[in-house]
Order: sequence, then structure tokens, then C-alpha cells
Amino acid sequence: MICYIGLGSNLSEPSVQLQNALDSIKKEPELQLLKVSSFYQSKALVLSDAPPQNDYINAAAMLETVLTAEQILQRLHKIEAAQGRERNEKWGARTLDLDILLYGESKIQTETLTIPHAQLQYRNFVIHPLFEIAGAIDIPGLGDLFAIAAKMSWDALNKLNKYTHAL
Ligand code: ADP
Ligand code: MG
Repeated sequence: MICYIGLGSNLSEPSVQLQNALDSIKKEPELQLLKVSSFYQSKALVLSDAPPQNDYINAAAMLETVLTAEQILQRLHKIEAAQGRERNEKWGARTLDLDILLYGESKIQTETLTIPHAQLQYRNFVIHPLFEIAGAIDIPGLGDLFAIAAKMSWDALNKLNKYTHAL
């Protein structure tokens, strides 16, 4: 199964957090890292009464796996925890957020998982990195990613360096 994940961090050297997470994914025998997008810088989404936050670094990655979506989520939570993620307030600053964006062409709705990711279509820091590595794929329930990316703004989003580490 091909699975796309989204990575984000806005604490403790965000680019290093993303790179460490990718290194951990590479070490998981049942996850094969096939592609990684460029890193992108984005402004934090904050609730109206919350203090400002550091900018985020975001990226998307393409994995090949035999695991179920639920098993992937467990692996991702383990990696988040290893990098000191504390789950606190909604939309709070975080050292690492790993989300499952797509799991093949599946639509999944359970207590723990919504796939495609519920916010995918609204977030330029998800759509642009995903389109960079996935191209014009069909997203279940949403349609052609090319069309979604073409309409998506680049507000407060900066494409940084190409991903040059070995996969
Ligand atoms: P968020 O990513 O929304 O900022 P968290 O990373 O704390 O928040 O995730 C909260 C919960 O969201 C997770 O424990 C997980 O069960 C659930 N969740 C639902 N759909 C997904 C998905 N596609 N990818 C990752 N987590 C998801
Ligand atoms: Mg998350």
C-alpha cells in the first residue's frame, strides 16, 4: 500500500525534528520511505486568544507499507513520543506532528482515524508538499490533487530547500 504522511514541527530546531523523524521512519522495517518533499516554512495557526508561535516547518513523505493505517498511526505516535512530543492544548506548539494524509485510495472513518486527513483540503502547508511528491493523483472524496493544488494559495508559505538526504 502507498501511504502519504504529513510532518510538522515548530519547536527545538524544526528542520532537525523532521529529519530525525524521517530517519526513524527509515529504521522501521515495515515502512519504506520512497519520497520526501522539500521542506516548507509556514506561519503557525493559532486560536484567537492564544499567544503567537514560532513558524512551522512542514513536509510530506511517501511510504510503501504492508501495515494497516491503524498500525502506521501507532508507529507515528511512537516516533512523536520519542522526540518529546507532549499532547497539550489544541493547535499548541509541538516538537513533532506526524499525520496520515492518505492511505492508498481508502476512505477511513473511525474513532482514531479520519483518512483522507480531515484538514487536508484546507491547508496549503499540506497540499503543496503533497502535490510536489504525489502529482496529479485522485484523492478519495476530493478529486484531482492537481486541481486542488492549482487553486490553493501560497499565503504565509515558503518553499525551502529540496530534500537531498539519502532515502
Ligand atoms: P492534530 O494533528 O490534529 O494537531 P494530534 O496530532 O494530537 O492533533 O492528533 C490527535 C488525534 O488525531 C490522534 O490521536 C489520532 O487518533 C487522530 N487522528 C485522526 N485522523 C488522523 C490522521 N489521519 N492522522 C493522524 N492522526 C489522526
Ligand atoms: Mg497529528
